[in-house]
Amino acid sequence: MSLSVTTMTEPVRGRFGEFGGRFVPESLVPACAEVEEGFRDAWSDPLFRSELDELLTVYAGRPTPLTPARNLSVQLGITLLLKREDLAHTGSHKINNVLGQALLARRMGRTRLIAETGAGQHGVATATAAALLGLRATIYMGERDIERQRLNVFRMTTLGAEVVPVTSGSRTLKDATNEAMRAWVADVEGSHFLLGSVGGPHPYPWMVREFQRVIGDEARRQSPAVPDVVVACVGGGSNAAGTFAGFADTGARLVGVEAYGGAAINRGSPGVVHGTRSLVLQDDDGQIAEAESIAAGLDYPGVGPEHAHLASIGRADYRTVTDDEVVAAVGRLARSEGIICALESAHAVAWVLRAAGTPDLPSGSTVVLTLSGRGDKDMATLAGGAA
Ligand SMILES: *Cc1c(COP(=O)(O)O)cnc(C)c1O
Repeated sequence: MSLSVTTMTEPVRGRFGEFGGRFVPESLVPACAEVEEGFRDAWSDPLFRSELDELLTVYAGRPTPLTPARNLSVQLGITLLLKREDLAHTGSHKINNVLGQALLARRMGRTRLIAETGAGQHGVATATAAALLGLRATIYMGERDIERQRLNVFRMTTLGAEVVPVTSGSRTLKDATNEAMRAWVADVEGSHFLLGSVGGPHPYPWMVREFQRVIGDEARRQSPAVPDVVVACVGGGSNAAGTFAGFADTGARLVGVEAYGGAAINRGSPGVVHGTRSLVLQDDDGQIAEAESIAAGLDYPGVGPEHAHLASIGRADYRTVTDDEVVAAVGRLARSEGIICALESAHAVAWVLRAAGTPDLPSGSTVVLTLSGRGDKDMATLAGGAA
């Protein structure tokens, strides 16, 4: 099998093949262009880079370790290495992107961060960065999610953020994203829209991937050799994009794992959602469908356009796993390695458990797997106590 080796560099005009772009109302075009210019300028400025590196080190706890999963490796007949984003501050990879964008916002003279959140993890990370950098934070969250994720709402308000309930549509993440973009239109001078994954209009898919690239770059340095397979879970796709970016120019096979109920790549079709053209779960009339996953962080009907592109050119493979496999994977990893990972991250683990020793993942393979977050937030769900 021949792999098309890519480099995952800057997309031309925000396009990843036939995906990506900037499908926003007229009023948001200049705002997106300003973010693009601001990011390009910052990303090529050694001062900005060193300031971000410093925060990632002394505040967020980077570099995160690459931990050999010694017991599982023996059981499965592979060498499994875990990239430990669960050990980053606030408990997941989301802090990497949030610190980058918050620093950028401050550099651009913005005083407020606007963010959407579903499960609340991105909202908590945004509230955290706002507190650190002395910015205000307004977090849009669906009313249904507020009821389901009270603990994260309380964390956000404890950190000094304002949480705005969204009552439109299904009252979940896609509606919160719409509202957050609307709030940005109303205050483009004073605020920065801090998108949480690799979706949205150009430059967000590129910018967020660059802020998450630190995962893949570190893992590449920490790996004894180029691994055979690199695997990560895919919701919007930011932890996977950041991980893949460190290995895209190698012969490593890239595997993204979707929740069956949110499998935009495996079960979606081309469409425009939240300002970008990608693959999306939709009905025959083009109505965006509801995603359904036990992992709130993967409960999104779309996926970042670069993943749609990587799938279409065959550079990355995307697999799906079921909620039952995911729950089993959390337990298996916990008992064999002493690590309780997030339900989202367990999607990647579940695929490895299923595929190891089959032609999809032959015995003897070396695998780098990104554990995107820790599982504390999911204990009530696993205990059956979820609302
Ligand atoms: C939000 C989240 C995800 C999904 O987001 P991506 O953009 O696909 O990375 C995955 N894992 C954890 C722990 C999360 O909090």
